[in-house]
Amino acid sequence: MSHTGNSGGLPGSQRITDPASGDQLSEPTRAYAELIAGNRRFVGGVPRHPNQDAGHRAAVADGQHPFAVIVGCSDSRLAAEIIFDRGLGDLFVVRTAGHTAGPEVLGSVEYAVTVLGTPLVVVLGHDSCGAVQAARESVATGTAPSGHLGAVVDSVLPSLRRAEAEGVDDINDIVDIHIAHTVETLLGQSPVLADAVAGGRCAVVGVSYRLAAGAVRPVAAAPAGFATVDPSAGSVESAAPATV
Ligand SMILES: [Zn+2]
Repeated sequence: MSHTGNSGGLPGSQRITDPASGDQLSEPTRAYAELIAGNRRFVGGVPRHPNQDAGHRAAVADGQHPFAVIVGCSDSRLAAEIIFDRGLGDLFVVRTAGHTAGPEVLGSVEYAVTVLGTPLVVVLGHDSCGAVQAARESVATGTAPSGHLGAVVDSVLPSLRRAEAEGVDDINDIVDIHIAHTVETLLGQSPVLADAVAGGRCAVVGVSYRLAAGAVRPVAAAPAGFATVDPSAGSVESAAPATV
């Protein structure tokens, strides 16, 4: 077996260029393009299941170089390697109900970005999120949830307050606000991550996943103007900049 082959990092995307300018893309943009390409395969029912064979398993046993961190909701229908059509060593995944970002989540993200050199952090939320709905019900009924579920609800409350202030009532629009809030929490609570973004070593993108369709859509990003290039479509779409 060989240990000199791809042990992670950006698989096969070294020559991805901006379809408009022809310029070489930054590593965070290439990482995002790789994720979107995998999501398109998943949505289209033509997944390749890359990096899931025994040979690759052996090749990455000595070290990991994931090209993206996924801070996702724990929802059982949101398995990162499946919906982005990736395999072993590709994604560093941190999941909590409602993608709430407490100290352990922040530490995990910082580990990936600083120790492993991962160039992209993706906050992955979805429509009909149960954690957001639970928080909403808690506020509506004035009833605090039992046990540690209260910590999840408490972490979603700032997003509910922002939605109310903006007159947003649709649950999936609230989810988008909560995804943007999580992006801002990561950047605001982690100077290490904010420095990596300011230095161009990393980008943070919040995406919303549709359970039925299987597709992701960017809703917030840092740095401002981070262009999310989809090489297969040859198009460039931009997420709203995160407000930090
Ligand atoms: Zn959820």
